[in-house]
Amino acid sequence: MVSALLEKYRDKKLATKIVSAIQELIPNRHVKFVHVCGSHEQTITRFGLRSLLPDNLEVFSGPGCPVCCTPAAEIDEAIELARQGILITTFGDMFRVPSTKNTLAGTKTDGADVRIVYSVADAVEIACRNPKQEVVHVAIGFETTAPSIAAEVLRGPPENFSLLICHRLIPPAMEFLLASGETNIDGFICPGHVSTVIGSKPYEPLSEDYKVPQVIAGFEPVDVLLGIWILLKQLRDGRHEVEIEYTRSVRPEGNVVAQEKMREVFEVVDKRWRGFPVVPKSAFELRQEFENYDARKKFGVQVKDSVEFAKGCRCGEVLRGVIYPSECPLFGKACTQEHPIGPCAVTSEGACNVAMRHGKF
Ligand code: SF4
Repeated sequence: MVSALLEKYRDKKLATKIVSAIQELIPNRHVKFVHVCGSHEQTITRFGLRSLLPDNLEVFSGPGCPVCCTPAAEIDEAIELARQGILITTFGDMFRVPSTKNTLAGTKTDGADVRIVYSVADAVEIACRNPKQEVVHVAIGFETTAPSIAAEVLRGPPENFSLLICHRLIPPAMEFLLASGETNIDGFICPGHVSTVIGSKPYEPLSEDYKVPQVIAGFEPVDVLLGIWILLKQLRDGRHEVEIEYTRSVRPEGNVVAQEKMREVFEVVDKRWRGFPVVPKSAFELRQEFENYDARKKFGVQVKDSVEFAKGCRCGEVLRGVIYPSECPLFGKACTQEHPIGPCAVTSEGACNVAMRHGKF
């Protein structure tokens, strides 16, 4: 069944042609592709693209939502700082994400000063206007948002400003999924936004080491369908390369200036992800020369025994591309958009939230 939205889609004819080409290429076996981008999940679910694909071709969502992947312990750290009287700034998506016992929104209700900002520059401005107040910005996101944090650090924010760095890096998580063998992956649809920054080269070792086809796709329905077609062509030809479908925004070398700023400010470290164990070289921390902006060092915050998921929540498997959100027994029953139990139901990039908004698949 084609979604009503796709019926009205301006490139519906082209989309239909690509779907026919996909059907011609589909091998006589089960094929599983995984994407790692909340915006791809929105396009796929909103336009009902899964319903157009052959039955033996599945596209799962992986760890594509940075808010969902931020461990409960790191949200607990922000809550702990807020309780100490420190002004916390964060993006709106992070506000309602459940951690061990509370959310940042709940902590604000309890009297703490937690504010939503649209950019790190807004957070720095708050610090400038309140020089006697310590301000900590919760810096989350993948390689897409990390350059703006790096640029702000290089500009030299005021002394009363610091960062709780929660950034994660996408290619190491993709490698973890391949290496763990928990689920068979025949190809990756690589994220469009992240790739505008890092380019296509960081994905190449995955294709070489794990012989997995990859394509960097854009966010229109025809982009995603073309990406699937490109992956199927690689499978048919026995190739395993990184191809760029999203050529209007992504260059193989990426955004070199942004990469330089990130290298200058951050070092790459091993860290846990929500739903994952420690993933080697998968996160950023501030380099030693910028440690005066490191909230963990400045305030010595330490949180132990954080609880990643509420009982029954299967977000971990959703984030690792093992199950669809609707396979969670709580989906749409105990867990809804209005009363989310797990992180994947909170933000518009979370796979469970997307499925709840646009219909389960
Ligand atoms: Fe977690 Fe809710 Fe998704 Fe289930 S439906 S995996 S409880 S967020």
